[in-house]
Amino acid sequence: MKKYVCTACGYIYDPAAGDPDSGIAPGTPFESLPDDWVCPACGAAKSMFVEEGSAYKEHGVR
Ligand SMILES: [Zn+2]
Repeated sequence: MKKYVCTACGYIYDPAAGDPDSGIAPGTPFESLPDDWVCPACGAAKSMFVEEGSAYKEHGVR
């Protein structure tokens, strides 16, 4: 499963870890997160997340 990075704050959603604080069980793929899920670190919407290694890699930023 792919990790997703918050473009607003750099938080990384790891599907293996989930987001227990938001009721997301470990093993939940990013695609399966509810539409109203937001970044637990900064509150950004799902649409602010990008696949780890995609856009960031192209721009040389990690
Ligand atoms: Zn964030």
